[in-house]
Amino acid sequence: MAGEFELIARHFSTPTHHTDLGVGDDAALMRVAPGMQLVVSSDMLVEGTHFLPDANPYLLGWKTAAVNISDLAAMAATPRWITLALALPAADEAWVGTLARGFHACCMEYGVDWVGGDTTRGPRNLCATIFGEVPQGEAVRRDGAQVGDDIWVSGEPGMAALGLAALLEGVGLGAFRDPCLLHLHKPIPRVELGLALRGVAHAMLDVSDGILGDLGHILERSGVGAELDEAALPLAPLLQACGDAARAQRALLAGGDDYELLFTAAPGRAAYIRSEAARLELPIHRLGRITAEHGVRLHQVDGAFRELKPASYDHFAT
Ligand code: ADP
Ligand code: MG
Repeated sequence: MAGEFELIARHFSTPTHHTDLGVGDDAALMRVAPGMQLVVSSDMLVEGTHFLPDANPYLLGWKTAAVNISDLAAMAATPRWITLALALPAADEAWVGTLARGFHACCMEYGVDWVGGDTTRGPRNLCATIFGEVPQGEAVRRDGAQVGDDIWVSGEPGMAALGLAALLEGVGLGAFRDPCLLHLHKPIPRVELGLALRGVAHAMLDVSDGILGDLGHILERSGVGAELDEAALPLAPLLQACGDAARAQRALLAGGDDYELLFTAAPGRAAYIRSEAARLELPIHRLGRITAEHGVRLHQVDGAFRELKPASYDHFAT
């Protein structure tokens, strides 16, 4: 394997566009515009925990950047800079080069400068830190949900979980296998939607652990509860893909890895939210509403209510 410095020079030194000093010195230099807050987040991908040893290195690079960029999208922030700390066994340089290409491709797609990192020997581990900007006080946090708010989610959540089930359990998805695997391996951070929701969403996060669990974070931080409408849950594409109602529900409510945005907003904002989603050619689903009563209730199609437990999804499946 090439040495650390050859790797840095050949694969990690990419052109920057809004950075004073990028890769090559002891540290990078960037300027946050006046009136803006710096927004920072890290996400680590560990072999065996977050990806399989035979993962495609290009897509792995993409995903490492994408999951970090997604965290800034979920704050309604603009992603601007990223660093990548890598631990690698004595692996082949082709693998590292392909990983770097995938990482850089995702950065370029979202206007992010790759400004530094660290490279060391060890079990495969990829840790990126993303830096972005948001006008002072305008970040959308998890603690702002208000009673009466609608609860929304973007995209087609659950597809990535079906893709993972195809890989790990051999679940047959027919023609949906490739699209589901794409959701799993090449998540699309919803940066534009996040920006469109500045000043509109009261609370927001990106779904990495499943809608129920992640909604639970908003509810807990905001001190409220939620009611979900069974008829409004976007189960159709999942059911079509796997043909199993229980699996489709589990993928939607407890499946992670889609990196869609889950947010709450006043009902009066519904028309704006739908028009922005249409402009971005993104499906959008209103799942229910925020309640003063704590916990999560499912308003079933038969009119009855059922209590859902964010921590134990099985409760819903039975
Ligand atoms: P130092 O020893 O001063 O910490 P390094 O030798 O670790 O410096 O890194 C040299 C330069 O290469 C630094 O600018 C660092 O940001 C950059 N660098 C190292 N690894 C990576 C990486 N994986 N991605 C991008 N830049 C990197
Ligand atoms: Mg270093």
